[in-house]
Amino acid sequence: MKAIINGNVVLENGIIWDGIIVLEGNKIVSAGKKNEVSVPDGAEIIDAKGAYVGPGFVDIHVHGGNGYQTYENPVEAADFFLQHGTTSLFATPSYGMNCESFLQAFVVTKEAMKTVKNLKGLYCEGPYTNPNYGAAADLNPWRHPICEKEFKALVDAGGKDVKVWAIAPEREGLFPFLEYARKVNPDVIFALGHSEATPMQVRALGKYKPTIMTHAMCATGRQAVFAGTRGYGPDEYCFREPDMYAEVISDSCGIHVHSEMQQLLLHTKGVHRVILITDSTNSDEPSPENFAHIDDLNFDHNGGLSGSKLTMDIACRNIMSHTNCGIAQAFLMASTNPAKAMGMGDEIGSIETGKIADLVFVDDRFRVKQVMLDGEICNF
Ligand SMILES: [Zn+2]
Repeated sequence: MKAIINGNVVLENGIIWDGIIVLEGNKIVSAGKKNEVSVPDGAEIIDAKGAYVGPGFVDIHVHGGNGYQTYENPVEAADFFLQHGTTSLFATPSYGMNCESFLQAFVVTKEAMKTVKNLKGLYCEGPYTNPNYGAAADLNPWRHPICEKEFKALVDAGGKDVKVWAIAPEREGLFPFLEYARKVNPDVIFALGHSEATPMQVRALGKYKPTIMTHAMCATGRQAVFAGTRGYGPDEYCFREPDMYAEVISDSCGIHVHSEMQQLLLHTKGVHRVILITDSTNSDEPSPENFAHIDDLNFDHNGGLSGSKLTMDIACRNIMSHTNCGIAQAFLMASTNPAKAMGMGDEIGSIETGKIADLVFVDDRFRVKQVMLDGEICNF
């Protein structure tokens, strides 16, 4: 058994100052106030030294970082993000890849999942999104009509490890893909992204309606109704649907999503429906003029945004500064909400009896002090 002492324990509904967490094996046994939880005899003591101890970060949308792609070099990429507190991540192939590259990414990721504990599956952004939206749109290889042979090959190869498919409801011929993806993996999640669909087009998907908004307020379009009126699209649908989760990329300068828009998102969706993602990539194109001083963005060959250089610890710090939210709320958005959105809320995402001991120790600016993965303190 292990006991973490001297930590400010961040629960889903509050913070226990100077609390204790007791672990047995890889599971949390109890968490509570110092005078209410006893440290079992012989337990290994881990001194948190006054750090905040919260649930490990769950990054559902991450292409790569530190020179490694999550779907090409998953061992190295997962280790890099683990050092920044990410105890669960979902490898996210790029929609710029062709079918063959997707299939290869599935093979590599599935193999790595056998040994890499913080690699939990795949999030597929594209090929069934709208190719006119997103970085390097001119190079998007998915402009051809949706092809049954191709989507069956992809869905079969991904199997149950592909947890999310991002989709654009306006794509013609989408339904057979949705049906097949759900047939092969009944738990598959559809996310709305890289799209200009109207709310009516989204609702027309019926039981295949998306439950996650892919990087809200980025790479979406709106269809104007009448000259002088404001168009509406996927973001408006997301605002309107109370149960839908909204991913947000919170970079330091509010370039992906402006501070005002992050505040709007938090206000409309509420703190239980926003998911922090890094959308981190390895794009190494030069920064356009005026952006060179920003160190957490990536750009494409046209000078457009191409994801970020974020890690989840920095994303937490950023959203606190953009929205004035607190540490416990940042943990909801970085750990609890994404775990729930992925259907894994019973195992991970919060500090609760019976859950897996995936923890991150941070200071009040989200500087990572220690990481615990599956009940073991990580040595970096
Ligand atoms: Zn994207």
